[in-house]
Amino acid sequence: MNNSKRTFMLQIIAAGVSLPLAKIAFAEYVNEKDPTAVSLGYVSDATKATNGKYKAGQHCGACMFFGGKAGDTKGPCPLFAGKEVHSAGWCSAFAAKPA
Ligand code: SF4
Repeated sequence: MNNSKRTFMLQIIAAGVSLPLAKIAFAEYVNEKDPTAVSLGYVSDATKATNGKYKAGQHCGACMFFGGKAGDTKGPCPLFAGKEVHSAGWCSAFAAKPA
């Protein structure tokens, strides 16, 4: 393979790898005004939750549905496909991570 073909192939591979990473890096946060967020009472700051199901100390980072790692400030949640929730957020579907 000559250098121009090799360079072209490397560019194609790099593009294929970087596009999914860019999509992850720039995933939108859930907007509290999205219909699904409203129906679940989602707030980006759990301490501001007004939903009667909220209990002090609950937040997305402690929820079994939170897809981020420990210490992440944001992460995916299957209830909001393609978007991210704040670790400090909360919704009425909160379910504590198993101990
Ligand atoms: S299900 Fe859990 S992680 Fe998802 S928004 Fe509600 S509290 Fe946060």
